[in-house]
Formats: sequence, structure tokens, C-alpha cells
Amino acid sequence: MLDLRPNCECCDRDIAADSRDAFICTFECTFCRDCVEGELAGTCPNCGGELVRRPVRPPEKLLKYPARRERTPVKRKAV
Ligand SMILES: [Zn+2]
Ligand SMILES: [Zn+2]
Repeated sequence: MLDLRPNCECCDRDIAADSRDAFICTFECTFCRDCVEGELAGTCPNCGGELVRRPVRPPEKLLKYPARRERTPVKRKAV
């Protein structure tokens, strides 16, 4: 089942489970639209794969299959 992560792994902002501004790669790395369309340019910085919009889980399914609560730690960029 798709892991609905609660935050952007780039800028750490909250991403609601029903947000249409969430993007994921094939490994479910999760990012917000601003990061994907901005500095990430559509490519996952962790695996180099394609980022696509995360499909929204219907509300009644979220009751039975809720989103993950634990935040994903942001990987600090090497400077
Ligand atoms: Zn972000
Ligand atoms: Zn990835």
C-alpha cells in the first residue's frame, strides 16, 4: 500500500493526506509541489527517479487505511 507521508522531504512543510500538491517517486520519497517544480525540477534527489503527483486516497479509505504519522527526516544537503 502506498505510504502517505506527512511532510516534504526537501523543505519539511506539512503535506495533507488529501493534498493534490504532493509528489512521490517510485520509492515513495515525498515532496511538495513547490520543491518539485522548483529546485528538484521533477527528479527525486534521493534516487534520481521521476516524481509524479501522489494519487489522493478517498476519504472513506483514509479512515480504514490512514496516512503515516511519523515525519520523514529531511536529508541535509551537502554544502
Ligand atoms: Zn518542499
Ligand atoms: Zn526517490
